[in-house]
Amino acid sequence: MAAAGEIMQMGVREIREGLASKELSAREVASAALETIERCDGEVHAFLEVTEKQAFEAADRVDAALAGAGDAEAAVRVLDEMGPLAGVPVAFKDNMNQQGTHTTCASRMLESYVSPYTATCVQRTLDAGAIPLGKLNMDEFAFGSSTETSAFGPTRNPWNLACVPGGSSGGSAAAVAAGMACVTLGSDTGGSIRQPAGFCGVVGVKPTYGMVSRYGVVAFGSSLDQVGPFARSVEDAAWTLQAICGHDARDCTSQDVKVDFLAAVHEGAQSIKGMRIGLVKEFLEAKGLSGEVRAKVQEATEKLRSAGAEIVEVQLPHADAAISAYYVLGPCEAFSNLARFDSVRYGLADPGHKDLSGQYEASRAKGFGAEAKRRILLGSYLLSAGVYDKYYYPAQQVRTLITRDYVQAFESCDVILAPSSPRTAFKFGEISDPAQMYLSDIFTVPINIAGNGGMTVPVGLGENTGLPVGVQVIAPQFKDANMLRVGAALEQAYGPAPLAPEFAGEKAGE
Ligand code: GLN
Repeated sequence: MAAAGEIMQMGVREIREGLASKELSAREVASAALETIERCDGEVHAFLEVTEKQAFEAADRVDAALAGAGDAEAAVRVLDEMGPLAGVPVAFKDNMNQQGTHTTCASRMLESYVSPYTATCVQRTLDAGAIPLGKLNMDEFAFGSSTETSAFGPTRNPWNLACVPGGSSGGSAAAVAAGMACVTLGSDTGGSIRQPAGFCGVVGVKPTYGMVSRYGVVAFGSSLDQVGPFARSVEDAAWTLQAICGHDARDCTSQDVKVDFLAAVHEGAQSIKGMRIGLVKEFLEAKGLSGEVRAKVQEATEKLRSAGAEIVEVQLPHADAAISAYYVLGPCEAFSNLARFDSVRYGLADPGHKDLSGQYEASRAKGFGAEAKRRILLGSYLLSAGVYDKYYYPAQQVRTLITRDYVQAFESCDVILAPSSPRTAFKFGEISDPAQMYLSDIFTVPINIAGNGGMTVPVGLGENTGLPVGVQVIAPQFKDANMLRVGAALEQAYGPAPLAPEFAGEKAGE
């Protein structure tokens, strides 16, 4: 039997091959994952809840289905029927409902909330045969870029435990980087998949808005939120997208667009010959972009050029306005969405007040942390009479301009290459000014504003900090296959993402 560490280094394809040849059972995979979590998560704190029972039940279903297969060929057919994630250990960000689990959004407000139903993205992952390991830490209600705003304590970056894993999906990124899960799901409203993927040296994909159903995912900014996978390879991300994308009658913004993600990845480096890769001057000259990140974007550009791509310069004239627009639109939507946490419909209740408004006030004061309160106050101010016209309305107009910028830029290129964040992972407590923290999103928020697809691909370590650097590949709406092709070409040049070194050796049980 393979050691736990060995199993947890496997990608989706290796797990499928292991299961088909009977060298591996799904129960062994589940045990390996749970053992690794037990051993490593004390230090990393990626998990808020571990679902051992569900994991073994799902694994046993896979093994039972495979037991009937006479030979390897029959086993492959069984796996194909079961789905793209059969026997793959996965975990979900804690803003995704999974029946019978706590869905806390890392907030005291929802500390005791147990999901009575399952989000579509989670259901599709389970229906694809995955082994669910548990729920992952995040910034409270997904407000943040470091996972420091979690009410249950931060997640640490497996590459350097003194550093943040990024956020808000920090738990999702760290779990994959430390080999505690093969694939995880996160959500991205302004960068919360792509920035932590970069900080933790893994692949993170935010598909085009509408590719994945938002049903059952606790809403932050409904016009911006999108679910996507974290993985150690572009191919593993593609297997996951294959499972979760597609129309859902329960989310009227979800689209019926078929993309063959796996085919795009397999075409990989071959298919980027002649592809036009756009570089944005405004991005590469941005204040605050560190030298080592800029150098990596330039290096990645050269690698794509050597693989046969054509490099073109494109303009995004309103790039500067994206952060301002986002920090108007985001809080406005968050304020509206978080109104439901009123201690009656949802959330922590602090009873014993003389009237209901006393209970509302006390419950919301106790339930929400500082950053959540800041967003709620900001949103309620920005949407108030007289102020609405000055901020919300112009921000919507800016949104249109930014969206048009991308449409125009994509007339002369097939994807855009950009940094995923201005710098590598920072230390805990290093950024205490919220406005400074908001600037970590300058390269990611415009993509949510415009609704495009964006993904982070790890491209090695920064020459100064020695920490992982990610580059971002941005695709036109619904042309997500383009970015997967380029992602696969980059991966071919750089090699798949390694586990964080401290978690790849002895700790992995080898
Ligand atoms: N860091 C950004 C924010 O705090 C993005 C968060 C996200 O994508 N959920 O709003």
